[in-house]
Amino acid sequence: MPKIIGLTGGIGSGKTTIANYIASLGVPVYIADDAGKKVMQTQEILEAIKEQFGAAVFDENGLNRAKLAAIVFENPDKLKALNAIVHPAVRQDFNNWLIQYKEAPIVVYESAILFESGSYVNFDCILTVTAPLETRINRVLERETISREQVVNRINAQWTDEQRIVKSDFVVENIDIDLAKLKIDEILKILSIKQ
Ligand code: ATP
Repeated sequence: MPKIIGLTGGIGSGKTTIANYIASLGVPVYIADDAGKKVMQTQEILEAIKEQFGAAVFDENGLNRAKLAAIVFENPDKLKALNAIVHPAVRQDFNNWLIQYKEAPIVVYESAILFESGSYVNFDCILTVTAPLETRINRVLERETISREQVVNRINAQWTDEQRIVKSDFVVENIDIDLAKLKIDEILKILSIKQ
């Protein structure tokens, strides 16, 4: 079985940029956020969501993700209930995905909420991407039409870098992308050698 590397980082840290770089090197990369969106389109999960949240989160186009997001983000218990539906399905999807990479030395599981969801306990090692707070805020403001206050709120809803770092095996600071890529090359070398 491959070694499974959990890859995470706060909003705007550049974890997706790093995940794409790792994938470009030929390492299989699983993006948990994409998988979450995919499983939320399956009949089984849609029915479980309807049972839990009622028909009000559905409209003529099906599940209204914005309505559901609004509900869960202001109520931690409801977020927990949604996660209890979605996370096991993502876990199953990941296990199915993994079968095709049985012979690979390593695979990467990228998730923004690796720590917050508790899924970090399932991995062989964890790599966290960091960047200074101000840099992260500016990156998100450049990427999206969103207020600074909204970015800060999102950051405050996540674990801090300090919390992530103490539970990580590797930390890559992503300011200069070329330096970050060099660090990734080093880490991948270490991980591929130490089977
Ligand atoms: P989110 O959790 O919000 O999805 P993320 O951690 O996955 O964020 P990315 O989407 O990879 O972050 O990067 C956020 C933005 O910052 C993107 O527009 C990306 O192009 C840019 N970016 C990433 N790394 C760097 C870097 N080293 N220098 C400059 N810009 C960068």
